[in-house]
Amino acid sequence: MLDQNTTAQLKALLERLEGPIELVATLDSSDKSDKIKELVTEIAALSDQVTARFDGNNKRAPSFGVAKAGEPPRVFFAGLPMGHEFTSLILALLQTSGYAPKVSDEVLASIKDLGIQSDFDVFVSLSCHNCPDVVQALNLIAIYNPGTTATMIDGAFFQDEVEERKIMAVPMVFQDGNHIGQGRMTLEEIIAKLDTNSAAKEAEKLNAKAAFDVLVIGGGPAGNTAAIYAARKGINTGIVAERFGGQVMDTMDIENFTSIKKTQGPKFAAEMEAHVREYGVDIMNLQRVSDIKGA
Ligand SMILES: Cc1cc2nc3c(=O)[nH]c(=O)nc-3n(C[C@H](O)[C@H](O)[C@H](O)COP(=O)(O)OP(=O)(O)OC[C@H]3O[C@@H](n4cnc5c(N)ncnc54)[C@H](O)[C@@H]3O)c2cc1C
Repeated sequence: MLDQNTTAQLKALLERLEGPIELVATLDSSDKSDKIKELVTEIAALSDQVTARFDGNNKRAPSFGVAKAGEPPRVFFAGLPMGHEFTSLILALLQTSGYAPKVSDEVLASIKDLGIQSDFDVFVSLSCHNCPDVVQALNLIAIYNPGTTATMIDGAFFQDEVEERKIMAVPMVFQDGNHIGQGRMTLEEIIAKLDTNSAAKEAEKLNAKAAFDVLVIGGGPAGNTAAIYAARKGINTGIVAERFGGQVMDTMDIENFTSIKKTQGPKFAAEMEAHVREYGVDIMNLQRVSDIKGA
């Protein structure tokens, strides 16, 4: 299943495991099941910290879960997490073992504060560029919220469910069977969606700041340009945006931006952010400004 190069890379990454983990596969008699069994077996052979079991009872077969040794799995892959989802698999293995995620202390605290007990399903396709971020965000939420599970479902493996749930686009996310979102979403956006108290918390954060001379609402190209223009004049400037980067975050290749032959949306958004921060602009990722009461 894994080529020589990938095997070597994965073996090196698994040295970062913080403790023992278990892969628990739920299999049936299909060819797809054989592939999942092969993948799980190959991963377990790469580290003494990983064991594999094939007696799982997940409602989707074939699938496999990732568990801290001695605990039930909370992160599941109903399909083969290859292609764009391979990183989601690696992060799930490491983070389940206790490896610290690369998120700020503030974001990690809000994940832990969610205190939810839910089952998340995210439908993906392995060629989808926007899916891994959503899968990884939900996996992290499941890892830090006992009683919560996150399942990546490859639509190609579960066609009946795709038709039954009318999945027309991916990623598509369900919480306890209810549709809660689709398309590209950042971890912060998902947390805000799930945190029933997030508007009040965001209003509190905003109120704690000193007044800005200019506060730009919106963090797309227009908002960023306006903020840079103001900050360059020495004006104390802030940006509040529901999603920093705006539509640029949904764009893959950008080829009509004069002086830059080709770039990708998320890369361009990261560069915009670095550029505005250079001028000391305070960026706040908040929910829809119109929803924030009390700020
Ligand atoms: C898939 C796709 C591909 C594209 N490809 C290209 C391309 O190749 N070339 C090109 O030139 N253009 C392209 N575009 C268009 C381009 O992305 C937009 O023209 C550009 O992003 C508009 O910038 P903007 O700052 O005006 O608005 P937006 O990018 O829409 O930004 C709006 C900002 O406001 C925030 N916001 C909105 N309402 C609220 C609220 N109530 N509270 C808080 N925040 C709020 C949003 O979160 C966001 O940060 C593409 C767009 C898409 C969707």
